[in-house]
Amino acid sequence: MAGLSLRNIEKIYPNGYHAVKNLNLEIEDKEFIVLVGPSGCGKSTTLRMIAGLEEISSGELYIGDRLVNDIPPKDRDIAMVFQNYALYPHMTVFDNMAFGLKLRKKSKDEIKRRVHEAAKILDIEHLLDRKPKQLSGGQRQRVALGRAIVREPKVFLMDEPLSNLDAKLRVQMRAEINKLHNRLQTTFIYVTHDQTEAMTMGTRIVVMKDGIVQQVADPQTIYNHP
Ligand code: ADP
Ligand code: ADP
Repeated sequence: MAGLSLRNIEKIYPNGYHAVKNLNLEIEDKEFIVLVGPSGCGKSTTLRMIAGLEEISSGELYIGDRLVNDIPPKDRDIAMVFQNYALYPHMTVFDNMAFGLKLRKKSKDEIKRRVHEAAKILDIEHLLDRKPKQLSGGQRQRVALGRAIVREPKVFLMDEPLSNLDAKLRVQMRAEINKLHNRLQTTFIYVTHDQTEAMTMGTRIVVMKDGIVQQVADPQTIYNHP
């Protein structure tokens, strides 16, 4: 079980910039929620605070029923996917996907099993021996997703994961990420500045502007009755 509870969360950067203001949000276990808003509105900052990559200035963050403000990223049961893939160029796809599991001292058999399972879900089994530079953009993004999946996290964080792909591939990957959510049955938190993307992904949308949540509703409500 990993719903999230964000209570009066504030982020003030060391330079004094107030990036997130009084954020209150309840995210259900297994929900697919999308944070949308113009560049600079505080979406990434919010996601990074959930990941533990950015300190929370004040407020409380619960993952499941655990207060995680002071819990390091690796103990939060989350995985994050970025727009720039962040793959290791000198490693094969298999080793890229296995890396986090090796760090966690999983057995060889378990690593193999998890990597093959994830590769099957993402249709990249035939690519496991390649290096990232031998892959297309879409394939790289699948590997990045695979690297998160093998960890079997309770919460998936995605920060504009499709923004480096061309338009056609973006549309295709949107559908795939929706399918992935249905299949994995975990909590997805997805950040985008693209309204079309927000509209076609997820079941609830959080609209942010200038560090403030302006609206939380289902896509129909937000885009049919602005
Ligand atoms: P978004 O993801 O919506 O584009 P961000 O969360 O990245 O927005 O940034 C929100 C605001 O905080 C922006 O105005 C950005 O310039 C500012 N910001 C981001 N990181 C820092 C930082 N390390 N120090 C100061 N300000 C920052
Ligand atoms: P990966 O599994 O993607 O190779 P690592 O296992 O090397 O990542 O990361 C070690 C730990 O640090 C992870 O458990 C993760 O929780 C945390 N961590 C590192 N980078 C990030 C990130 N960008 N987002 C969330 N957590 C991260």
